[in-house]
Amino acid sequence: MSRWLTCAICGQRKPVGIMSAQAWGRLELQPDLEAERPDLRGTTLHACPTCIERHPDWNDQLHRSLGIHYGSSGELSAAQ
Ligand SMILES: [Zn+2]
Repeated sequence: MSRWLTCAICGQRKPVGIMSAQAWGRLELQPDLEAERPDLRGTTLHACPTCIERHPDWNDQLHRSLGIHYGSSGELSAAQ
């Protein structure tokens, strides 16, 4: 059994099995961030194994693609 995952960085869509899905990066938003950005509630983004290898900061990149930036002290903040 497989399901489809879409990479939020390169946009490729791939059928992945349960095992290969573990190689994919998964970004889930923190509850406090969802409180600030209700429009993003329930958003889950994925990054394919290739992009994770190519972009060590994929997690940061996915946040940024949602308009979310890390503050200078490392905390997350949601841009309006
Ligand atoms: Zn990718």
